[in-house]
Amino acid sequence: MLTRRMIAAAVFAFTIAAPALAQDKPPEKLKTVATFSILGDLVKNVGGDRVEVTTLVGPNGDAHVYSPTPADVQTISHARLVFINGLGLEGWMTRLVAAAGGNAATVTASTGVKTLRMEDENKPGHMITDPHAWQSVANAKIYVANIRDGLIKADPAGKSVYEANAKSYLAQLDDLQAEVKSAVAKIPAERRRIITTHDAFGYFGAAYGMAFISPEGVSTETEASAKDVAKIIDQIRKQKIPAVFMENISDSRLMQQIARETGAKIGGTLYSDALSKADGPAATYIDMMRNNIRQFGAALVG
Ligand code: ZN
Repeated sequence: MLTRRMIAAAVFAFTIAAPALAQDKPPEKLKTVATFSILGDLVKNVGGDRVEVTTLVGPNGDAHVYSPTPADVQTISHARLVFINGLGLEGWMTRLVAAAGGNAATVTASTGVKTLRMEDENKPGHMITDPHAWQSVANAKIYVANIRDGLIKADPAGKSVYEANAKSYLAQLDDLQAEVKSAVAKIPAERRRIITTHDAFGYFGAAYGMAFISPEGVSTETEASAKDVAKIIDQIRKQKIPAVFMENISDSRLMQQIARETGAKIGGTLYSDALSKADGPAATYIDMMRNNIRQFGAALVG
């Protein structure tokens, strides 16, 4: 039974305990920055509770053409570690890091990936390194290993945590890899041909055996001309492409027009360079890959 004195004692204990609790702050998290949402999700999975991740190009954003803000300069100047994709994706990043004072260590997550070449969307005929390496799960595993090693270097006290988090996430990626392969295996070989709005699936195609034909001369930066559209329609008819897909970072009107004129099926929305918002179908890297294979299957499995 509670006596008045016990309650008074408890209240007194609480009032003296409260300021002590306020001082007993959790240890400060390692401040990191990731350039875009997909990379940010990988860093969160490896960093867990020890790490605070700020993502510069958020959900549905286009990391190819981002314009950094003064707030981004602040964010980077306070960060211990900056994660970039590399492979030419974030051309705007060098100036941003310099503007921020250049103190944060930079980890290039794609280091060690076997790269592919692609045509520069803004300079037809000009070949560049394809930056979209994360579209192969095997490459995402290389990203995760680089992220783990970068975090351990910046925060050696967290070594065992980062190793355990990476190990468990890598096991999830192994399961995802098997899921993607079995989803593609269900699509008849002659139907594994797709047109997307921008050329982001080269690594997916090479890893899993699908042909992604990007409309020639169309980029995320410029609108397609009537001539471009006519060329794409011609391409679809000649190459007998069964489906066209929307992408979350590109204008969908072009694909809708093309589908109308060619009779090609319209697939759902693919997530290529950015995650969806938290309540969308691709809020994490794993959900993004699952969303995309679901869309391929829905449009291409006859
Ligand atoms: Zn892209």
